[in-house]
Amino acid sequence: MTYRAPVKDMLFVMKELAGIEAVAQLPGYEDAGIETAAAVLEECAKLNEDVIAPLNHESDKNPSWFKDGRVTTAAGFKDAFRQYVDGGWQGLQHPTDFGGQGLPKLIHAACSEMVNSASVSFALCPLLTDGAIEAILTAGSDEQKAAFIPKMIDGTWTGSMNLTEPQAGSDLAAVRTRAEPQADGSYKLFGTKIFITYGEHDFTDSIVHLVLARVAGAPEGVKGISLFICPKMLPDGSRNDVHCVSIEHKLGIKSSPTAVLQFGDHGGAVAHLVGQENRGLEYMFVMMNAARYGVGIQGIAVAERAYQIAVSYARERVQSRPVDGSLPKAGPIIHHPDVRRMLMTMRAQTEACRAMALVAASAYDAAHAHPDAATRQQNQAFYEFLVPLVKGYSTEMSLDVASLGVQVHGGMGYIEETGAAQYLRDAKILTIYEGTTAIQANDLVGRKTSRDGGQVARAIAAQIEATEKALAGRASAASQAFAKRLSAGRRAFLDVVDFVCSGAKGQPNAVYSGSVPYLMLAATVVSGWQMGRALMVAEDRLAEGVDPAFMSAKVTTASFFGDHVLVKAQGLRDAIVEGADAVTALPLEAF
Ligand SMILES: Cc1cc2nc3c(=O)[nH]c(=O)nc-3n(C[C@H](O)[C@H](O)[C@H](O)COP(=O)(O)OP(=O)(O)OC[C@H]3O[C@@H](n4cnc5c(N)ncnc54)[C@H](O)[C@@H]3O)c2cc1C
Repeated sequence: MTYRAPVKDMLFVMKELAGIEAVAQLPGYEDAGIETAAAVLEECAKLNEDVIAPLNHESDKNPSWFKDGRVTTAAGFKDAFRQYVDGGWQGLQHPTDFGGQGLPKLIHAACSEMVNSASVSFALCPLLTDGAIEAILTAGSDEQKAAFIPKMIDGTWTGSMNLTEPQAGSDLAAVRTRAEPQADGSYKLFGTKIFITYGEHDFTDSIVHLVLARVAGAPEGVKGISLFICPKMLPDGSRNDVHCVSIEHKLGIKSSPTAVLQFGDHGGAVAHLVGQENRGLEYMFVMMNAARYGVGIQGIAVAERAYQIAVSYARERVQSRPVDGSLPKAGPIIHHPDVRRMLMTMRAQTEACRAMALVAASAYDAAHAHPDAATRQQNQAFYEFLVPLVKGYSTEMSLDVASLGVQVHGGMGYIEETGAAQYLRDAKILTIYEGTTAIQANDLVGRKTSRDGGQVARAIAAQIEATEKALAGRASAASQAFAKRLSAGRRAFLDVVDFVCSGAKGQPNAVYSGSVPYLMLAATVVSGWQMGRALMVAEDRLAEGVDPAFMSAKVTTASFFGDHVLVKAQGLRDAIVEGADAVTALPLEAF
């Protein structure tokens, strides 16, 4: 059950698809070329393979626990956290001014995949801290940045994100936590937050809670929500009035403590406003976009690990003679075509999502650091379109892949011994937190597609068409076959973009009936587009004699993606455009 970081594939994508050398031309990222990436990834792989990955299975069996207001994290987690922060991993992508390493998101994303493959439960703490840092960087005052960010980067404190309340899940307009202004400019918070990841733990003495709350008299709904920093410990060393009252028992990610936090039961939790009153949700969106992307990476990470153990099991488990008679007697199940189909599906989907995510990361880097404003804006729009795809699709994909992983193991996958079941249980949360798949799809339909009349979506389709032409113009049968699949996928995507932009002719239910399938379709085509690009590069490298084993596997995996995954685009299109009525036709009382 060891984990081997897929460094070679990550570097291939960075170099050949995500344009790391162009990222290294951006101001501030001059040292972040492929050689730096290779060195960083190798180091990161060591920590995750040797220190964190070995904790994963045991921490699932003996998870973090709660007693008398305190959480004790799973065995080995605290020490691993120290090694993680001391190695500088928490600050990898954050500004050097605050003690970070200032590396691009492109490199950080690959490192984040590794720590999540090693243990999602462990990795959630750095992920939430990254989000909190991001929010303070965006909207915090200079004093707040100086006071909190260096200590979150060096691991003195961690961050948490406090949105959810019993009555406010997907609908943050319903947030009720109350903020009362104090004479000294601070606020006091009163309320209950539930499901707060790493809202309590024993890694550090204090935790920087970022909290959504309402100032008295604020407007109803999302326009009346403000963002606060509420530290667990106050600067004088005393305990703030925020207390963990329990942690949840869960299906998966058992060692990530999911806390119920009570604010203000003993006079009010001291907090400081971030930015301006009533703009909290806007700031939190910055944090959520970072976190949503991060959760998409978690999906890829779980899928990668599930794939690795499935391959290893399929090589060992002996059962039945292969149908092609290639062995004289029963042999390892990897010889059976259906097992190969499962492994190829797992592999192709994981690689495609990784490529899509890293291409998105490089767009993010250009959106932040490119000297030209128009280029920045273009990359930002591309990145924003991709965030719901990376989050929504990679996480749903991870669930399918982890389920296939169990299937490859047969009964041994269903029992807990092999670890395959843990990946399936861990993967399920990924489609729920940071906005369920439906919430990602609503974002894709509303903010990312309808709002600009499909402009960004069609611009992406135009880029895909250029790739199709390049593929079709090549001599190889693999490229030409892929061009055909990609073209059909793009046309299906464009039909749905038209359907969405027409508001399905004044029928919102028709559009939103197909919102999740639209997300799946868009991501299938966009990730397939990356596999088409990968196929061409791999063919070229093969012709040059570069790493034939890796390159020919890439060609084969891309071809599989075209023939087995991209083909689903047409079915999704038909369901969305022609099947919308059936979704809401059954009267409510008939359920
Ligand atoms: C383990 C775990 C860790 C978490 N960590 C954190 C954390 O650190 N901080 C934090 O603030 N929260 C956290 N959460 C909360 C999490 O973000 C919410 O559970 C999630 O946003 C969904 O909200 P809900 O559970 O209230 O589901 P609901 O909002 O009640 O949704 C139920 C169903 O209705 C659907 N639905 C709801 N609204 C719509 C709509 N408008 N359109 C279509 N479908 C809709 C949903 O897709 C879902 O299928 C965590 C949750 C868990 C379980």
